[in-house]
Amino acid sequence: MQQNTSHPFHPSAGTAPVLSARDLTRSFGSTTALDRLGLDIQVGESLAIMGPSGSGKSTLLHTLAGIERPDAGSVLFRDPSASTGPVEIAALGESARSRLRRGSFGFVFQAGLLIPELTAIENVAMALMINGVSRAAALPRAAEWLRALGLAGMEERRIGQLSGGQAQRVAIARAQVTGATVTFADEPTGALDSATSSEVLDILIDATVGRGNTLVMVTHDPQVAARCHRVIHLLDGRIQHDAGVPTPGAEARS
Ligand code: ADP
Repeated sequence: MQQNTSHPFHPSAGTAPVLSARDLTRSFGSTTALDRLGLDIQVGESLAIMGPSGSGKSTLLHTLAGIERPDAGSVLFRDPSASTGPVEIAALGESARSRLRRGSFGFVFQAGLLIPELTAIENVAMALMINGVSRAAALPRAAEWLRALGLAGMEERRIGQLSGGQAQRVAIARAQVTGATVTFADEPTGALDSATSSEVLDILIDATVGRGNTLVMVTHDPQVAARCHRVIHLLDGRIQHDAGVPTPGAEARS
């Protein structure tokens, strides 16, 4: 697939953020993982979350995505493609958050989210089927995404029969096939060599931000972060540094 590797970001004046976190607080015993953290993420933005181990990156990602609930504070999700109003994610119960995650969010983690017993196409189709799409309708849509991500001919392989980079492409297809408004990635290239990492990152950015959607990614790799519009650095559960707050016409790549 031809990669469009430049992603100029033009936030429209007055457009509401797709995610707004306010005063997010989360503690584990005496450890404060998030300390009254506030953050707005714009539609179409790619955001890298960096910081030392233990600074709260995963807790922030999981809280924004409705996987974990904060002790206090709020996460407002405004789906630009929905006619419904904003949703206060932190206030939803487990089943409502689970529905929201399945329908509106995509997840690409370092490993482990694909089902090894299923083929590539079944893994992608599964994301649709758990949203109520029939197998017969889901398989062609899954095949289309696999083809778009350069995996034509590999549909029937099980995950263990794919390289690390190919498996991550399947993960990206699975995260996008539902039309995810926001994709959350946690070290998505952490297990890959640098050439494959760069290729998978191109594909991830194109499949999300390249389609006008939003990407929120935890990474420890400055080269990966440099590919995002904006980089925040966490320390002790707070944003210590917020670089690259987008300006109209700014070029995303270094
Ligand atoms: P990072 O992703 O930056 O490494 P985390 O968000 O995983 O940081 O963790 C932030 C802090 O919260 C760390 O001190 C970590 O040990 C603690 N923490 C995170 N999750 C748990 C948990 N489930 N139980 C206890 N402590 C946790």
